[in-house]
Amino acid sequence: GAGKSTIARRVAKELSFIYVDTGAMYRAMALYLLHKNVDRTNTEQIGEVCQNAEISIEYQNGEQIVLLNGVNAYLRTEEVGNMASVSSAVPRVREKLLSLQRKLAKDMSVVMDGRDIGTTILPDADVKIYLTASSLTRAKRRYLELQEKGTVCDLDNIQKDIEERDQRDMNREISPLRQAEDAVLVDSSDLTIEQVVDRILEIFRARTEEGASHES
Ligand code: C5P
Repeated sequence: GAGKSTIARRVAKELSFIYVDTGAMYRAMALYLLHKNVDRTNTEQIGEVCQNAEISIEYQNGEQIVLLNGVNAYLRTEEVGNMASVSSAVPRVREKLLSLQRKLAKDMSVVMDGRDIGTTILPDADVKIYLTASSLTRAKRRYLELQEKGTVCDLDNIQKDIEERDQRDMNREISPLRQAEDAVLVDSSDLTIEQVVDRILEIFRARTEEGASHES
């Protein structure tokens, strides 16, 4: 709801880098766990069952496609998002996705979006952005998105869900959502997508020029 994926995708395009959406990987895993009817409160069971999910990535026309057991599934529902927030707190789920994410960044120049990229997955990333927005702004954006799709929804409930998910993501033991020390904070609450993209490109250019002048 802060605009992560839209913004990361555009920044990647501007820089001719590959965009990697790690949330989609957690969502694919969540969908698998929902299909398997796991008990959301049973961490051990989730840790076991997740081992059999096969998650891979493909690129079609520059767009990332996440395949779950070889199939491109629809991942952007509230049910899958909420399950992803529960299952992503399970260490074995994170371990399984960590190596896939690191490998992608090793092989290519990427813009990777996700809650623990700057802190855990790529601690040596050249540029780190901590993108945030107020929960009300994020709820309004999500509300409009759902309305456009013709889904009946309630703004208060969406905001409550977002706040609950933030709490879970920030307070979990493993890889909690937090700003890396060397990340630049960008608050998108009062900015348009273009303004955020421009701001990030500015930060990118300043950081990489700085890096290049240190090297020479
Ligand atoms: O970003 P998105 O809403 O698609 O992510 C769904 C859920 O996956 C998040 O609420 C979060 O719990 C989890 N996630 C994560 N670490 C990431 C990306 C997503 O824990 N790097």
